[in-house]
Amino acid sequence: MAKVELEKVSKIFDNHVVAVDDVNFDIRDKEFIVLVGPSGCGKSTTLRMVAGLEEITSGEIRIDGRVVNDVAPKDRDIAMVFQNYALYPHMTVFENMAFGLKLRKYPKQEIEQRVRDAAEILSIENLLDRKPKQLSGGQRQRVAVGRAIVRKPKVFLFDEPLSNLDAKLRVQMRTEISKLHSQLETTMVYVTHDQVEAMTMGDRIVVMKDGKVQQIDTPMNLYDKPSNKFVAGFIGSPAMNFVSGQIIREEGLHFTTANIKLRLADARAASMADYVDKSVIMGIRPEDLSEYQLIESPRPDRGAHCRVDVVEPMGNEIFVYLSLGADALVARMSVQARPEVKKDYHVHFNMDKAHFFDATNETVIC
Ligand code: ATP
Repeated sequence: MAKVELEKVSKIFDNHVVAVDDVNFDIRDKEFIVLVGPSGCGKSTTLRMVAGLEEITSGEIRIDGRVVNDVAPKDRDIAMVFQNYALYPHMTVFENMAFGLKLRKYPKQEIEQRVRDAAEILSIENLLDRKPKQLSGGQRQRVAVGRAIVRKPKVFLFDEPLSNLDAKLRVQMRTEISKLHSQLETTMVYVTHDQVEAMTMGDRIVVMKDGKVQQIDTPMNLYDKPSNKFVAGFIGSPAMNFVSGQIIREEGLHFTTANIKLRLADARAASMADYVDKSVIMGIRPEDLSEYQLIESPRPDRGAHCRVDVVEPMGNEIFVYLSLGADALVARMSVQARPEVKKDYHVHFNMDKAHFFDATNETVIC
């Protein structure tokens, strides 16, 4: 059992920077939770407070029901893997992995066994006699993880562990850490600024901005039901398109700007009724824009004429960058689409999938 609870946790640094602002969330036993957000949003500080490396200004952190606010890092039964791996350069891989256990005065035989077991899990048995400088980035990363595994902690904390690796290795290590999680069945908390890493690894994701939690949810819920414009724009690549406009009633509700008039899905009518003649922000994902002629039964009240700025072929699909008056949009289309640069292009908006946000506070309406 290793449940981690954060209740009203804040961190204000000496320079009055509010790094973490009244954060509340529970991490369930054996859960893989990812903290994600842009640089400076407070995710590392949150993790470091769980680890005990940073003092908490106010609030409470509990591990398995025990308040750990004043418990030293070494007594919290957690292990942390850092971005820079923090390996000792003069020690071999074996010694690096064994170090924490030696400090805790484990019997020699047990240390040997634990290091060999961890090395086997990570496929680094053949590297145990090497020094860190004789390893590749990915191998160093594995050793850093190995050093955490040997401790058999209740909770693993990862602070951007893959950011020093090249793109291909990052994808590979991502899968390895996910596999490791199901193998070890331990609670893991993982910090990253990369939304793809968050989406692919997390059972649940905590999205942060300016020290505050924006939404905590499963990857698919964050994608399909973002609670505000920030989450909607942060999760997904290419990012969701946003267009500011008005809701009008004209034989049903429409979203309008100077350049478009799109009929809302009937299912949205009730939620949007209060916004008639008011400003809203429409969000629509790139895959919900299509070439009008390629839609099986297109609806004229959901089409708009855009101008094609750039076409990016991706092999299995194309990204089409469009102008709609002053608004820029990106569409993710099938390779059958035939947009021509600098030409008019008839685009179909899948309004069943559109999101609407309040123009003032940017929270989701529906
Ligand atoms: P990154 O992805 O860039 O690491 P982050 O989301 O992990 O960012 P934190 O490192 O938690 O962000 O920092 C949150 C805020 O606290 C930032 O504004 C940062 O400048 C500030 N901060 C972090 N550490 C300190 C410190 N020791 N003293 C003062 N301010 C700090």
